[in-house]
Amino acid sequence: MQSDTLSGSSEEPPASSTLNSLKQFHSAGRGFWKDVSESDWNDWKWQLKHRITSVEQLQRYMPSLTPEEYAGATLANQRLALAITPYFFNLIDPADENCPIRWQVIPRIEETHTAPWEMGDPCGEDEHSPVPGLVHRYPDRVLFLVTDRCAAYCRYCTRSRLVSNATGYDFHPEFNKQIDYIRAHPEVRDVLLSGGDPLLFSDEKVEHLLRELRAIPHVEFLRIGTRIPIFLPQRITPALCAMLKKFHPLFVSVHSNHPRELTTEVRDALGRLADAGIQLGNQSVLLRNVNDNAEVMKAHVQKLLMCRVKPYYLYQCDLIAGSAHLRSTVRKGLEIMEQLRGHTTGYAVPQYVIDAPGGGGKVPVNPEYVLSRNGDGVVVRNYEGKIFEYPEGPDGTPAVPAPDRIEEPELV
Ligand code: SF4
Repeated sequence: MQSDTLSGSSEEPPASSTLNSLKQFHSAGRGFWKDVSESDWNDWKWQLKHRITSVEQLQRYMPSLTPEEYAGATLANQRLALAITPYFFNLIDPADENCPIRWQVIPRIEETHTAPWEMGDPCGEDEHSPVPGLVHRYPDRVLFLVTDRCAAYCRYCTRSRLVSNATGYDFHPEFNKQIDYIRAHPEVRDVLLSGGDPLLFSDEKVEHLLRELRAIPHVEFLRIGTRIPIFLPQRITPALCAMLKKFHPLFVSVHSNHPRELTTEVRDALGRLADAGIQLGNQSVLLRNVNDNAEVMKAHVQKLLMCRVKPYYLYQCDLIAGSAHLRSTVRKGLEIMEQLRGHTTGYAVPQYVIDAPGGGGKVPVNPEYVLSRNGDGVVVRNYEGKIFEYPEGPDGTPAVPAPDRIEEPELV
């Protein structure tokens, strides 16, 4: 698909006509792979086998690599993870250095610069890991990391220390130990399968894990965190959906950042999951040059609803080593939230969060709508800046005036 030449850069707000075009659904097309048969192109294993994983391949398909990209890509799979599915590669606009898809998946040399406040494990997951591959940071739920592989690698990944083993993390989860831990902890009612990407496993392997977890009586709720529907929609086969629907209640959190990622292929894949009764939520990361623009974000969240996905979280980008060039500011994030709340459907508004650096967990961050509290009530402002007072007693009790006299009900 050709770019709409909209980068999402905060410096250049896009025209509304461009925004309308962002909300249109297009196919990613075939690009360099026109001669591949339909059945191969739609085969997720073919897509994985033909991923772009080296600087040589990148250069062949995209001679317009910038010096920063070229220098970054030469480190592919030594220091930096690199993989892009042919399908997703077709969303890149090679003529636009600021293409928001390009910034998400093509390595840049800036990734080798680490600021003093950046971390390899910014969410402190390793410290909260009672057994390898399991993170127990919140009281009633665990993160079950099943693999270190993804269909493609994001340049700002919170788990870049781990994914693709490019930095020698040596990730070896032992499913029996992870499941034994959950079985032995009755307070765990919610299990999130993530990684890496769990949907890279075969249907049989995903089913085995879900079945083991479902057999634990205190596990009420299962979730899968995946970017596969965005990077590799071909993986969302009818057979996969038929298998997943056996394990309700099952939620799937997808990860999309820009409206151009929501193609007709992605919409169809998400529709298949929704038709299988799976609740879909989206997690986005606020990224400079990608989506740190209120109008781009609005187009994205509205388009997600059209794909039957509830925008769930908008993350302030974690302090991942080498991600400074992609991080936007909290100020910008709050500005964007201000321009969503009240200005569009409430279902379209995600919760903006900062994952507290070092392992404090998710902290919701909101524009200030409560202006003051006094003895008479709470003073609030609405999305238009108008001020209102909600009456409340001084100790926070509801303001209910005592009636002077009690009216006798009239009998009829
Ligand atoms: S898909 Fe998720 S786990 Fe994989 S590289 Fe992207 S952000 Fe990281």
